[in-house]
Amino acid sequence: MNQSSYNPFLTAQQQFNKAAEQLELDQATRDFLRAPMREYHFSIPVRMDDGEIRVFRGFRVLHNDARGPGKGGIRFHPMETIDTIRALAMWMTWKCAAVDIPLGGSMGGVIVDPHDLSPPEQERLCRGWVRQIAKNIGPLADAPAPDIMTSGQHMLWMLDEYETILGAKYPGFITGKPVNMGGSLGRIEAAGYGIVITIREALKELKIQLNQTRASFQGFGSVARHAVQLYQQIGGVVTCVSTWNQRDGQSYAYRKLDGINYKDLVAVTDHFGEIDKNKAADLGYECLPGEAWIEQDVEILVPAAIENQITLNNVNKISPSVKIIAEGANGPTSLEADKVIYDRDILIIPDLLANAGGVSVSYFEQVQSNMNYYWQKDEVLGKLDLYLTSAYVNASDFAISENMSMRDAVYLIAVDRVAQACHDRGWV
Ligand code: NAD
Repeated sequence: MNQSSYNPFLTAQQQFNKAAEQLELDQATRDFLRAPMREYHFSIPVRMDDGEIRVFRGFRVLHNDARGPGKGGIRFHPMETIDTIRALAMWMTWKCAAVDIPLGGSMGGVIVDPHDLSPPEQERLCRGWVRQIAKNIGPLADAPAPDIMTSGQHMLWMLDEYETILGAKYPGFITGKPVNMGGSLGRIEAAGYGIVITIREALKELKIQLNQTRASFQGFGSVARHAVQLYQQIGGVVTCVSTWNQRDGQSYAYRKLDGINYKDLVAVTDHFGEIDKNKAADLGYECLPGEAWIEQDVEILVPAAIENQITLNNVNKISPSVKIIAEGANGPTSLEADKVIYDRDILIIPDLLANAGGVSVSYFEQVQSNMNYYWQKDEVLGKLDLYLTSAYVNASDFAISENMSMRDAVYLIAVDRVAQACHDRGWV
């Protein structure tokens, strides 16, 4: 299946159906949880720098808020679809439940390539998005956060527009804000550090020393980059990272077998996570076709770019040396490839757990913002470690006791918690 015909919402629904079957959920609960509770589609007119108006399509989907206010990113992407947003909202519901934070799941986005917009045009787009949806979201209803190609600056423009409309300060309206403007210390590192915390726990179980391992990453954006940094800091070696090259529409993998130099590579990466091919070559990196990231002779693979990247087309290229796949991205593995990986006895740390560090610290940021009282970085990262380690151990114990994959275990735990909340509220 090629990327354009892939529908992540169908994947998310199939994953849910499987969990619903195993949990023997009643029909009403299945019908209720299989679709979003609310969704908004809107047009955003934006005045461009040349005076012309362009109209962008925006979305916000709230999948479920039985356990607490919605939480979920806003993605700017030229190929954005409502079904991708629906899938991400549903996965967010399960993710918050998997790490046991009192939030529901939502997601938003705009069909746009921000590379094509100047900063003032991006600002007007952010403000326009908020103007269309301000009455339906908010700190007690549904709070956005950054995702692919959105940054702290975008979040701040959105917050400013929301506060202008409401006429008061609501720092808990949005998370992923710049640190000096109500953001949480540790938020920027959180999703990446969370991946490494779950890898650390998985390696303990497999009785493998982290400093004896190598890893290959897909992506070098805000999630992957911080995972690379922490993993190398505590003794691992990253031999390969791949990124998307916007100019020629291809991806490339950059390899150094004795380990990439994190600082050097960051210096030649733009703020969309794209490594400059020529500058990387000057630094001595081998430049391979993008798909090469999956074929590397390493113990750990980290897909941390986009959905549907490990499929039947490439799953058999995974080296026999691989012991762990930690899903940094949301939905990077197709259902069919997942089965092959399970049969090969490779431990997949599912996205609902591996990248839950982002939403966990988003939750901490919201708590701090709502109190207007901010914690030290060590406190934030300490709590992150506590939440993720305990979610990992809980899921792993369940997987072992029920003889099932980590993905199935995390799904059963999460869906059960959400279904229970819906029952307790008397909804279904
Ligand atoms: P980002 O835009 O900062 O980075 C994306 C990276 O992926 C870039 O390096 C880009 O070049 C690369 N990429 C895109 N397509 C590629 C391809 N085909 N081949 C190779 N590289 C490719 O995005 P991000 O915030 O790091 O998010 C990455 C993933 O993690 C997404 O699935 C997102 O939903 C998920 N996620 C993000 C957060 C967060 O807090 N930002 C939290 C949890 C999960």
